[in-house]
This record gives sequence, structure tokens and C-alpha cells, in this order.
Amino acid sequence: MPVLSIQHLTKNYGNIKAVDNLTLEVNAGVVFGILGPNGSGKTTTLGSILGIIRPDSGTYRWFDGRYDGDERMQIGALLETPNFYPYLSAVKNLEIIAHIKKIKDPQIDRWLELVNLSERRHSSFRTFSFGMKQRLGIAAAMVGDPEVLIFDEPTNGLDPNGIAEVREIVQRIAGEGKTIIMASHILDEVEKVCSHVAIIKKGNLLASGEVGAILSNDRQVEIGADDLPRLRELLAALPGVRNITPVNRHFSLLVPPDVTAASLNKLAFDNGLTLSHLVMKPKSLESEFLEITRG
Ligand code: ATP
Repeated sequence: MPVLSIQHLTKNYGNIKAVDNLTLEVNAGVVFGILGPNGSGKTTTLGSILGIIRPDSGTYRWFDGRYDGDERMQIGALLETPNFYPYLSAVKNLEIIAHIKKIKDPQIDRWLELVNLSERRHSSFRTFSFGMKQRLGIAAAMVGDPEVLIFDEPTNGLDPNGIAEVREIVQRIAGEGKTIIMASHILDEVEKVCSHVAIIKKGNLLASGEVGAILSNDRQVEIGADDLPRLRELLAALPGVRNITPVNRHFSLLVPPDVTAASLNKLAFDNGLTLSHLVMKPKSLESEFLEITRG
């Protein structure tokens, strides 16, 4: 069931295309990463689906219209480090948020526990480290127990421990069955935290789908030989080879990076097979782009 469906979303700032005809679907229960380098339109996309930024064209629909326009209470968001009252405690700050959101049973202790801030619950916000402030922001997004959480670069500016802690918290939230949509410019982060990904560059969608399928370095290969059953046996025995699918008189399959045209030729030759067809397809994403977002 789609939690969010975006259709042809477009937003220009003057002649800058921040988001360009973006179409996406996010299903319930996934951790959906929006991956792209700085300035690729992630924040603009999140701002649009939250109703903070008005797109030039395109539409988005939350929960298949289930909440009849009243869906905002089911969406918690952390876009940038929020402004809390510096002299009030973590608990007091969350109570104020619950009051503004008109939430009767805000379960503040539960959310402080979730973000590892129970011990500092009565400390004033101004005494918090940057990482603690960020985690309180996550707790604030959880107030009201929304179905969907939106996080914009939640680990930005944190040290390695803080990064690991926030990633772990995001996964904990996912473990509660929530749908999470998070922007990141770090490929490694998306690989570690997300189940699904959309890759955007200059406002354009390059690819979207399951993380394992989209971000792997595997290449697609087409290969055919006179003796197809024997060829299949040989391919299936290669480590890391997957999705062997018959297509006309050859197979289409995914191979890990160490499998090359030369190694496939040799495999066939050594086993007395003559290849009738061999095409190594380019990777699904430009490796150059992956380099930009790696690390
Ligand atoms: P970052 O990771 O750096 O935040 P992003 O992927 O979130 O980047 P956006 O912030 O959505 O990208 O920006 C997309 C493009 O739109 C950029 O070229 C940016 O300069 C431009 N842009 C965003 N907001 C505005 C604005 N209010 N006025 C003018 N241009 C803007």
C-alpha cells in the first residue's frame, strides 16, 4: 500500500530546476532513502510533500487519501535542528510541542527513552551537545506517534559516535513499523539504514527501488551458447551470480564486478562450449555519480 505517491513534482527557483518532474511511490513500512549530492533537490522535495514549499506543478498524495486531507498529524518531521526553548528541559520542550499539536497522551518518556535521552530529561536544552539536540529533534518528531517520519540529513554535522547513534535510532523507529523517508548525500548511510532508495541528481530521478538491487555494483550480462542447459549449470556455479533468466536463445543475469567478459569466455572455452552471444551491459548507475555520494 503506498503511503506516499508523488506525481510529476516540479519546482523551479528562477532558472534553477530544484525538482524536475519527480515521480515516486513510497510503500508502508519501508525506510526510504532519498540519495543525492548537495543541491540535488532533496530538501525541496521533502518541503513540498510536507506542504512547506509550494511546487510549480505536480501532485502528491498521502496515505492514498485515507485521512481525507487531515494527514499531517500522521507525519512527524525533522528538517533542520529545531528551535527549542534553551532554558527549558527536554521534557518541558516536548510538552510544549505536544500542547501545540493538541496531543492528549504524548508519551514523552517513551520518546526520550527511544532517543537515549532519559537520563538528561530534566536538563535544560542549552546544556545539550549538538548530538543530543539532534536526538531531541527526533523525539519531537515522534510526539503524536505518527505513522510516517521524515528526516532531512539526520546525521549531518555529527561526530562518528553521534552518526552511529542516530542511524541506530532510525532503525529502532523502523522496527516499530513506522515508514521512514530520509534524505542523505551519503551512499554508505543509505546502504546501512535504508531498505529502498531513490537517487536524484539536479532534481532528476536517476533510479529507484530496493537498495540491494539499485546500489549493488553488479552488472547485467547477456550470454548465450550452443548448449544452453550446460551453460546455465556453469553460470549457476559461479559465486555471486544471480537472476539467471532465459531470454530467446540466451540468458540475462547479474554478475559481481570480478566476473568479466574474458572470464566468462574462458569458463565456456574450458568447458568445451562456444559462446554465441555475450553482452556486458553498463552498470545501472554511472559509477561517477556513486563516487560523488560515496563517503
Ligand atoms: P543540500 O543537501 O545541500 O541541502 P538538497 O539536495 O537538499 O541539497 P535543495 O536544498 O532542495 O537540495 O536545493 C536544490 C536546488 O534549489 C539548489 O540548486 C538550491 O540552490 C536551489 N534552492 C533551494 N532553495 C532555494 C531558494 N529558496 N531560493 C533559490 N534557490 C533555492
